[in-house]
Amino acid sequence: MKADSGLGKLYIVPTPIGNLEDITFRAVKVLKDVDLILCEDTRRAGVLFQRYGITTKRESFHEHNKFRRTPSVIERLEEGNQIALISEAGTPGISDPGFYLVRAAVEAEISVEALPGACAAIVGLVGSGLPTDRFTFEGFLPVKKGRKKRLESLIDEPRTMIFYEGPHRIKRTVTDLRDTLGDRKAAWAREITKIHEEYKRGNLSDLLQFLEVKAPKGEYTLIVEGAPKKVKK
Ligand code: SAM
Repeated sequence: MKADSGLGKLYIVPTPIGNLEDITFRAVKVLKDVDLILCEDTRRAGVLFQRYGITTKRESFHEHNKFRRTPSVIERLEEGNQIALISEAGTPGISDPGFYLVRAAVEAEISVEALPGACAAIVGLVGSGLPTDRFTFEGFLPVKKGRKKRLESLIDEPRTMIFYEGPHRIKRTVTDLRDTLGDRKAAWAREITKIHEEYKRGNLSDLLQFLEVKAPKGEYTLIVEGAPKKVKK
């Protein structure tokens, strides 16, 4: 799929976050047509590729090889290759190493085309019932160093906040958010688009209670209300 101009192009291609049908016709076409697909998780990509008959050559590109792999990827783009980047799930660049490659491509003046598609943050926000007019994506909170400072920096944040969390730390994160921000309105979207998809809505302490009743399982997108407006005296 050499471009007419002979210039390479980097395609950023979102893939499903659970339900394999959540991929666009164009994404499948691009994945079939490019010279190479860089995959964050080749095994997971294999399942998707089998479903859609994608036989394009694939290589791994993830957190642990991104520094080593980037120069050769840029070189191949400069040689005129069309390369697609997919992450483990959802939109590459959102809480995964995608940003690193996009920045390198932009710096090398390579054309970058990002396709629209699934992203847990946006789906979770929209389903949460919390205000969507202004929001901030916080991704994963730091696990150790800088966690307290980051949490404290959010106390006066007026916009709805979106966090990512896995099952092992969800309880700690909900607890820390409640203890730092107060018992705000919140919701989680768990296992979005999968068989056990679940929304829980209430205050942060209600979410904690749910976690007491049922052990955490699966992937969580957590949405928290922004700081209440300060009343002028
Ligand atoms: N790039 C992805 C995206 O566009 O959403 C996010 C990748 S990040 C490494 C993985 C985190 O996203 C998970 O720990 C979870 O917080 C969130 N996530 C991914 N899939 C999800 C799903 N099906 N339901 C809820 N949250 C999900």
